[in-house]
Amino acid sequence: MKGSHEMKWEENVRKVVPYVPGEQPQKKNVIKLNTNECPYQPSPMVEKAMKEMDYRTLRLYPEFPEKTPLTKYLAEYHQTEEEQVFIGVGSDDVLSMAFLTFFNSDRPVFFPDITYSFYDVWADLYRIPYEVKPLDADFCIRKEDYIGKNCGGVIFPNPNAPTGVLMGVDEIEEIVKANPDVVVIIDEAYIDFGGTTCLPLIKRYDNLLVVRTFSKSRAMAGCRIGYALGGKKLIRYLNDAKYSVNSYTMNRPALRLGAESVKDEAYFREICGKIIATRQRSEKELAALGFTFPKSYGNFIFASHEKVGAKEIFEKLKEQDIYVRHWNRERIDRYLRITIGTDEQMDALFAALARI
Ligand code: PMP
Repeated sequence: MKGSHEMKWEENVRKVVPYVPGEQPQKKNVIKLNTNECPYQPSPMVEKAMKEMDYRTLRLYPEFPEKTPLTKYLAEYHQTEEEQVFIGVGSDDVLSMAFLTFFNSDRPVFFPDITYSFYDVWADLYRIPYEVKPLDADFCIRKEDYIGKNCGGVIFPNPNAPTGVLMGVDEIEEIVKANPDVVVIIDEAYIDFGGTTCLPLIKRYDNLLVVRTFSKSRAMAGCRIGYALGGKKLIRYLNDAKYSVNSYTMNRPALRLGAESVKDEAYFREICGKIIATRQRSEKELAALGFTFPKSYGNFIFASHEKVGAKEIFEKLKEQDIYVRHWNRERIDRYLRITIGTDEQMDALFAALARI
């Protein structure tokens, strides 16, 4: 039966405009430079563990997220205690939990106007008031915007996405110090590509949460692993919220494979080094082709062409099965975010760009 009843329940639906991730084309042989994945395989230790995994263990629930080998290795790796590590299903899960847990006041949470476009989605979903703070003309976060403003919390990525611009640890410390009554979240999804982490600050500031992911520098986006580090009290509150939604968010294979990745430091350093080297080479190539871009500390470059429009380049690249990211949004519609792939993939990109 159609009619008024249908309309009534719809009025009470929690309506959201979801985040739209980059396309995942199903075609083979595409050059995929649109979602900041790693072009290299995960560590051989991950491969070995995956082959040795016993499917029969899937019968059992996984370990409690707080006490897993993954949390243990992460704590050792970062020289913290296990109670300072929170793990989740990708950093999206961790960040979403952190929004739900820590941004719970009437005052607006602050984040940049140009940043990870999931932040406003979570804020809307959880009915958290927020205010965006414009980046300056060079795409830098203006630290003054986050100091002495009586906000309900602060979050931004460092380096920022999609710009790749890095903020220094001293400036981050000033922001954390100036906001002792609220939680400051630094999303370090891309910190392993040459930036300096603000992690040491968690020892001194109990209102700082640092979030990391296995999706970029550990080449494990498909495994969905993210984590947060902070004071024990922050992590306790995060776990309380998590256990109020779903106790076992992390599956057994992810917990096992993630732990193997953390153990293989040499391989991790090797692939990060390769991406940084390819990024440096790409900067030269892109500049020679007439692109300008802020200096990037991520595994991507945010580039704009002096003559040709970004949308046009985006579409022409797609016709040639090369995927990059473009947003039809004010201030950034002239830019393309290009993930750093292998040297061969980048060469194919430069050749296609030269033709365009
Ligand atoms: N933070 C930032 C800044 C990102 O760009 C991404 C990737 N989309 C994420 C967090 C989430 O990554 P994941 O959920 O794969 O850990």
